[in-house]
Amino acid sequence: MANNQNKRGNKSSYFQKKKFCWFCKHNMWYIDYKDVNLLKNYIHENGKIMSRRLTGTCHYHQKRLTIAIKRARHMALLPFIVK
Ligand SMILES: [Zn+2]
Repeated sequence: MANNQNKRGNKSSYFQKKKFCWFCKHNMWYIDYKDVNLLKNYIHENGKIMSRRLTGTCHYHQKRLTIAIKRARHMALLPFIVK
């Protein structure tokens, strides 16, 4: 048991960086679709929206972020696919 705990402790200290929601930290309760520079941080090179697992965004903000990105795409501010 002590061994197990040790392993877990090591693992977390090695490659589990503490993730937090950037929007929660900055008290942003509304995500503007015109803020392209911000939204660009949350899409892949190929234009896909990044998952919560990668960015650490909370459920509330991920939902709003997707809506904002989709709006921005519709308004041709962000690309659908990058080839
Ligand atoms: Zn959040």
